[in-house]
Amino acid sequence: MHRPPPETIVGMSLRARYDYLFRTTSDGLITLDADGRIDRINPSAAAMLRVTPEDCLARLPSQVFKANRLLVNLLTLQNDITVDIRLPEHRLAVGFGATFEDGGRMVVLQDVTEQRDLESRREALARTVAHDLRNPLSALEGFAELVQKFGPVNEQQERFLTRIRQTSQKLFDLIGSLVELAWIEAGMPLEHVPVQLSTLIESIVTELAPFARVRGVIIAVSKQDPMPIVMGDPARLRLAIYHLLHNAILYSHAEQSVAIHCWQDVEQAFCSVADQGIGIVPGELEQIFDRMYRSNDEYVRNLPGGGLGLTVARTIVERHGGQIWAESTYGEGSTFTFVLPLAEAR
Ligand code: ADP
Repeated sequence: MHRPPPETIVGMSLRARYDYLFRTTSDGLITLDADGRIDRINPSAAAMLRVTPEDCLARLPSQVFKANRLLVNLLTLQNDITVDIRLPEHRLAVGFGATFEDGGRMVVLQDVTEQRDLESRREALARTVAHDLRNPLSALEGFAELVQKFGPVNEQQERFLTRIRQTSQKLFDLIGSLVELAWIEAGMPLEHVPVQLSTLIESIVTELAPFARVRGVIIAVSKQDPMPIVMGDPARLRLAIYHLLHNAILYSHAEQSVAIHCWQDVEQAFCSVADQGIGIVPGELEQIFDRMYRSNDEYVRNLPGGGLGLTVARTIVERHGGQIWAESTYGEGSTFTFVLPLAEAR
């Protein structure tokens, strides 16, 4: 039987693969020949721009898109550019254009309408929160300090002023967590970059070392080689681990140790934070991840906290396609573990 030489097979299948990608990708793709005429437009680009391939093929961009000057520029200029392109029906795309050695040009359009919408809603929320909640709280803190400065205040007044400052700070932190949670739950776009978990853990341990020292708690880190790399949003993953480690220190007694451990199997990365602290009663294990849930335990009630840390951690882990759970024995300690897909499964 006649077989074509291997390069041909590779060439053909590559062409078929590019064709498949061209037809199925959700990004809009338009290519132009060396004379600046449109020679291909994929279904996504046609749908975004409300045209049919017949409207465009073998024509100049200025003939097809004359009402959209920025798009015409993106299609006709010879340099590599990135520009926002208005689409019909109030939608928005980011357009990338590049010209190749043979004089042909390719333009990619990514519809970012929802993403931009969320970003502007987040900014609006952050502005409202800053204005309506954070500013009055800062004023409270500031005035408490002023009273002390313009003293003299007696010991009891001094204690009250300190309480005002501490409570304001607690509210400040709570507002920050609420905004973060609302934003993550709203489906905000997360970053998607390789994240080395050990680097995150090291920086969190450094940040929380003074807190652990004050509480007399020892932190032990155990690392596996190679350390797992996951794809995700480093700032958000950092926040999730921060809450777990912060809790482990907070809910431990002096002289006890907290162990943070990270490992991987074939497909997944695991991270666990184990303490020998107060533990959780079985009935509460399911509820602790709920928003604003705090244990009824008197020890917990006497410690500061807004009941949002675990909700934030769970939301972040789940948005990364992972899972988080807790195991605990009341009076003996707790272990929180989360699992995330590896960036590259072995
Ligand atoms: P916060 O710690 O601010 O109260 P979280 O959402 O982080 O809020 O935790 C919710 C509750 O879960 C805590 O109030 C506490 O009752 C319990 N909890 C969390 N972590 C631990 C832990 N390591 N050991 C014991 N209890 C814990």
